[in-house]
Amino acid sequence: MYPSCPVAWGHELPSSLVKVLFVTPECYPLVKTGGLADVAGALPLALAPLGADVRVLLPAYPGVRGRLRKVRTVAPLLSLMGGDGSLLEGTTAEGLQVWLVDAPHLFRRDGGGPYAGPGGEDWPDNHLRFAALSWVGAALGSGVVDAGWRPDVLHLHDWQAALTAAYLHYDPVMAADRPPTVLTIHNLAFQGLFDGALAPSIRLPAHVMDGDGLEYWGHLSFLKAGVLWADHLTTVSPTYAREILTPGGGMGFDGLLRARAGHLTGIVNGIDDHLWDPATDTHLAPPYSTYSTRRLHAKAVSKAALQAELGLTVRPDVPLFGVVSRLSHQKGLDLLLQAWHRVAHRGAQLVVLGTGEAALEEGFRHLVGHHRHDVAAVIGFDEGLSHRVQAGADAIVVPSRFEPCGLTQLYGLRYGTLPVVARVGGLADTVIDANEAALRDGVATGFAFSPVDAGPLGVALERVCDLYAERPAWQKVQKRAMSRDVGWDLAAARYLALYERLVPAR
Ligand code: ADP
Repeated sequence: MYPSCPVAWGHELPSSLVKVLFVTPECYPLVKTGGLADVAGALPLALAPLGADVRVLLPAYPGVRGRLRKVRTVAPLLSLMGGDGSLLEGTTAEGLQVWLVDAPHLFRRDGGGPYAGPGGEDWPDNHLRFAALSWVGAALGSGVVDAGWRPDVLHLHDWQAALTAAYLHYDPVMAADRPPTVLTIHNLAFQGLFDGALAPSIRLPAHVMDGDGLEYWGHLSFLKAGVLWADHLTTVSPTYAREILTPGGGMGFDGLLRARAGHLTGIVNGIDDHLWDPATDTHLAPPYSTYSTRRLHAKAVSKAALQAELGLTVRPDVPLFGVVSRLSHQKGLDLLLQAWHRVAHRGAQLVVLGTGEAALEEGFRHLVGHHRHDVAAVIGFDEGLSHRVQAGADAIVVPSRFEPCGLTQLYGLRYGTLPVVARVGGLADTVIDANEAALRDGVATGFAFSPVDAGPLGVALERVCDLYAERPAWQKVQKRAMSRDVGWDLAAARYLALYERLVPAR
């Protein structure tokens, strides 16, 4: 009767939207320790305009509730792994709808982070904490907890959410009416391993420790639940999807994963290209400068600002390498410590922002001691500085031994900060090496080396110095890197196609 009435249209639209609940331990800007947070914060926003109604379920760590708007209690969560809690709902400034598992006995802690206490040791009750997150995910998906909105698909992220698949498998009430599930493995190195005797304390039957259950080399593995029972598995690049099927890359899971290879897809992550845009980046206030391909000269302003901020000699004529990373064996930064002498004598400079293993932190402090005016190390986690490093450095070094996707090389492309990457996983899928043929054909976007060792890395660092000395050729590669599409559109369309394939006709 009123065909142009906006209310009528508004009522029709939602029924056609696929409803997806992300179950995740991190989500930017609420809580972040690594790339998973960036994905969980950005992918739902990229999916919304394509026709998905995505909400995020996350633990109410300290400080998270205060960052949400219009917070209200949706449902009680009684006797949740040793205490009572409640389900809260709120919205981020970006418009993302978030549900919080508010369970003070599990998540309200002084100091530390999402996974570890102030001393860096894992919280001793992590099995209870992430079983609680997973259980609530399963309860919302199966309708056991009614929050007035029921997802068509549960999208589980990493081991902390993977146990959702176990509850949907073992709990007869949940299993009777469960939605399809997708597990994304952001990093197979993290498998959620606990003592098998803990199973009853997390609402699982003791027989989960059978070989065809969650037993994994004598432990109980949360991740295994998702690998066995999620309807579809994804990981964050096609090359990593192949690597994890091999004994070398499968970290003990390759046999199980090969059995599910027909249900495993690699989808390269995007980045939030509004937050990470050198032309508008709010972290680049003076003395830093925003810039673009058309105002590339302004990148030199940010380089000088970064050199000055970190006490390096301010000089434009030598390449400034950057690192923004967890300091862990995976990231291969011990190789950078070994290889640095190859370019130190050429005057190259290095800025490291990272935190993690004590030996690596010490290694970089030691390097600074030897090259006080050319090497700086900031040991800590600093979101603003991570943007300033991307803007001020000439090249970003990512020498990972394995890398499911990697985000810092994507930020590097966007900022014309040429990535120097190990040819593994998502790094191999996203950076085209500046070899002679690629330079001639105009397709190079960075530097890739293999095998992952100090020697080949040293050669790559030298190649950076060589190309940097030929400024017009360097700038050509920079401009090409900056014009690469590294946003979420393509990946979001692939996730949506996957959800729609899994959801029975609605
Ligand atoms: P991973 O998730 O394995 O740590 P990724 O490259 O996928 O590695 O994502 C790392 C994310 O964390 C990026 O957004 C990066 O900028 C950020 N990051 C890593 N270390 C730091 C740090 N010390 N300070 C600020 N941001 C950091």
